[in-house]
Amino acid sequence: MQEYQLYIDGTFVTSVEGKKFESLNPFDQSVVARVDSATQPDVDKAVAAARKAFDEGPWPKMSGDERSAMIKAVSDKINDKFKDLVKLEVMDSGSTYRKAKEDVYLSARAVYYFSKLAAHDLSEPVEGLNKPGFSKNIIVREPIGVVGAIIPWNFPLKMAIWKLGPALAAGNTVVLKPSEETPVTAMELAKIIDEIGFPPGVVNIIPGYGEQAGEALVKHPAVDKIAFTGSTEIGRKVMAMASETMKRCTLECGGKSANIILDDADMDIALDGTMYAIFYHQGQCCEAGTRLFLPETIAGDFLGKLLDKTKKLVIGDPMDKATDIGPLVSKKQQDRVLDYIKKGTDEGAKILIGGKIPDDEKLQQGYFVEPTIFSNVDNKMTIAQEEIFGPVLSVITYRNVDDAVRMANDSIYGLAAGVWSKDKEKAQSIGRQLRAGTVWINEWHLMSEKAPFGGYKQSGIGREFGLDGLKEYTETKHMHIDEVGEREKKQWYDVVVPKG
Ligand code: NAD
Repeated sequence: MQEYQLYIDGTFVTSVEGKKFESLNPFDQSVVARVDSATQPDVDKAVAAARKAFDEGPWPKMSGDERSAMIKAVSDKINDKFKDLVKLEVMDSGSTYRKAKEDVYLSARAVYYFSKLAAHDLSEPVEGLNKPGFSKNIIVREPIGVVGAIIPWNFPLKMAIWKLGPALAAGNTVVLKPSEETPVTAMELAKIIDEIGFPPGVVNIIPGYGEQAGEALVKHPAVDKIAFTGSTEIGRKVMAMASETMKRCTLECGGKSANIILDDADMDIALDGTMYAIFYHQGQCCEAGTRLFLPETIAGDFLGKLLDKTKKLVIGDPMDKATDIGPLVSKKQQDRVLDYIKKGTDEGAKILIGGKIPDDEKLQQGYFVEPTIFSNVDNKMTIAQEEIFGPVLSVITYRNVDDAVRMANDSIYGLAAGVWSKDKEKAQSIGRQLRAGTVWINEWHLMSEKAPFGGYKQSGIGREFGLDGLKEYTETKHMHIDEVGEREKKQWYDVVVPKG
């Protein structure tokens, strides 16, 4: 079992109120870690440290190259500790071994990318401003200040990196609150930051509960920006709380992504892609393909094959490399998913496969739910409108593509969508009609650090990744440098100031 303290001002410390919580292994409920739990006084300390490090410390004043070298060291250390991090991520979050391996690899890759961005000068000239007189104009991008980052439990290390990477690259200091469900790899990241020797206060990592540590961070007047990833429900609250002090706010929230198969799709790829879209990480992905739109003409055939393939998924110990489907993160999440499955049947949808906790004796200690597919779904039903965040697919059939697009867009969410067709031009034209921040054509889940990711509508505000993502961590300053130089030529002064 691991023990973790809060990481504040470059030191590991116990929480002021002495509170702790345990993080459980979702496979067998064993205690993975005992962790200090941050409350208001710890948040105050962490924010004060971050504030001092920003206002007085070297971090924002360092050159981009200097910051870049330190951020790159994080990537190197993640690679050095690769195996341990993978194992801890599996134990703490219930991620399958194969997914956790990918997560740790992608975390190292993302932080390397952000290290390159740190050296990138975002300043840009504004050309052609010669009225009323000549001037040179520059748009300067500066760090915002203290960033409060709040992350969920589904990709614990990746989410921590997605916040720390751009925030630090832009020169901000950070207080990061990991999810109370999965604090372990974020605390390993704190150890890495400590080993590298970041200046004290630049990175503070304080696990704790949302209503305590999270709210205290969002409301804190000395925090300049909140970068939140989590549910739309909490995202709305965060935005309201942040408005009190008009904090900058980026929100990466929930989704109910539409997966549209066209009748000319490559069926083998579309079938496997559909399973990847919904069952990856037991469906606990914000951009999971949760609503499958099938043309009536091919629905029977497609579903028959989908069921055959779903039956073959291996549900089991996430540490076992052969496991396809691991447990959900917690009992709470298992109950939530089972409740939604009940709502689905209550409202008239039909379970084609799954729908319950697996019978296997060996899995009873884990928070498992079988991969579940519903047919007879109407897009107005709860299971088609609300985010379930589990391995539950709602299948909706359509007669013509315009109907599919209309239903796909009939959602409060707009995080992602996908279109499958051999005709890529047609698929792209449909993709342009979909109100979503990411549209995959004949693909799903693939993201790049270089391309912006984020939501339309209530899936969020702002973007992560790429230069768009970096800019979210900056303030924009317009610098106007006079090039007229002579009073007589500055006639605009005459409006108020008499000449001579
Ligand atoms: P959640 O909203 O319950 O919690 C997210 C974080 O917010 C946690 O750290 C939690 O402690 C904190 N929190 C909870 N209440 C708070 C409050 N009152 N004030 C401040 N902070 C508070 O979400 P979750 O269950 O941890 O994660 C699943 C959700 O995250 C899903 O809705 C999923 O779609 C979303 N998500 C979105 C993205 C994205 O990029 N759009 C990525 C991953 C997950």
